[in-house]
Amino acid sequence: MKIQIKQVMTLIENESGDYSAEVRNIFIDGNKIVSLDQAPEGFQAEKIIDGTGKFAIPGLINSHTHAYMSLFRNYADDMAFWDWLNSVQSVEDYMTRADVYWGTLLNCMEMIRTGTTCFMDMNIKSAEEKQGEESGAAGAALESGMRAVITRGLIGSVGEEYPDQQIQDVLREREIFADEDRIISWFGPHAPYSCMADNLQRIASLGKEYGMGQTIHLSESETEIENSIKEHGCTPIKYVADLGIFDIPTVAAHCVYATDEDIAIMKEHNVSVALNPKSNMKLGNGFMPAEKMLEAGVNCVLGTDGCGSNNTQNMFSEMNIAALVYKGANKKAQCISAQDVLSFATKNGAKAIGKEGELGTIKEGALADIVLLNIHEPQFFPSTNLISGLVYSATGAEAETVIIDGNIVMENKILLTIDEEKVFYQCEKIADRLGMFH
Ligand SMILES: [Zn+2]
Repeated sequence: MKIQIKQVMTLIENESGDYSAEVRNIFIDGNKIVSLDQAPEGFQAEKIIDGTGKFAIPGLINSHTHAYMSLFRNYADDMAFWDWLNSVQSVEDYMTRADVYWGTLLNCMEMIRTGTTCFMDMNIKSAEEKQGEESGAAGAALESGMRAVITRGLIGSVGEEYPDQQIQDVLREREIFADEDRIISWFGPHAPYSCMADNLQRIASLGKEYGMGQTIHLSESETEIENSIKEHGCTPIKYVADLGIFDIPTVAAHCVYATDEDIAIMKEHNVSVALNPKSNMKLGNGFMPAEKMLEAGVNCVLGTDGCGSNNTQNMFSEMNIAALVYKGANKKAQCISAQDVLSFATKNGAKAIGKEGELGTIKEGALADIVLLNIHEPQFFPSTNLISGLVYSATGAEAETVIIDGNIVMENKILLTIDEEKVFYQCEKIADRLGMFH
């Protein structure tokens, strides 16, 4: 479809990487942005959107979540990390692929409604079908209209191979969605403490063979560090780096306890690190040393983590917290600026998944993943600095129209891809069946 967004305030990135807000005309043809200025020759818009009072930003990229976990919203709160993990995993054992499908749809609804267009998911069931309840997280993401990197959280008990089935399932899911540009299949080895060394190495070699990346939880809690030093004589990050698993594109979630040596390792291997400040705070784990990561030139990205440890999937809320906590914790107001955080949630997220210049930016030739925010709201006046406004004043509820891959997924707050009442009904039913009301 050919879309024109007329005279709209637009988040523009200049050559030095800084952001500014400028009025532009955005022309979309198919799934691409074809011009930000004049209509290309012969361009006949099938849809014209009036940009008055709106702010066009690139769709936000949530670089770490577990979308099915929307079903865990407000379920296991105010618990210590390992008690929380046990509590969540004991319910997960009873979850079906259909539960993952409905939970993911609920998560996608919240993400679209708060301006996120792409997410990196770690789930517990791979798709059996392309559509419907047996399509799991990948099918739900496809149906919602979102873009997603889908990974299955691979877990193998100590001393035990991954059931080979887990790997076969991931490769099968990749086949099922091979012709869908919006769905990218990666591996998701859960963590060094839940995966054996040879399995981690096997994933890395399969990643190379199939051109797939991976996401993994690293250095999330203090106990994890203590155990790693006891067992392997080094930090979890050094341990996995020595196993040689960083040869494929990797997004490492958390990295709260990364040492200076760990940070140098991440930089050397081009590993992207996902900050999840709300989840880390909620589980009492601390904060990733993001300022040091930035100084070292490590690609920092931003994620909400799953609803089990962060009861909202709202990236505006996450950006706000990310920009504030470091200032408070380091007693230094200059660290981690609004511009930094905005890049974590957009272009850095794109870079992490090999889509630099295609996603996370509004420019000619980029994919048309655009969110129109209504900025005719008190929190955006006076409109002196709209970049600061995105990080320090916005709530996420300003997202009004969302375009992903050139398709209008939400228009004037009406979600066009998902039957929301049906999802609410199904999720209540699942929570009841799993005994989660208490
Ligand atoms: Zn996680």
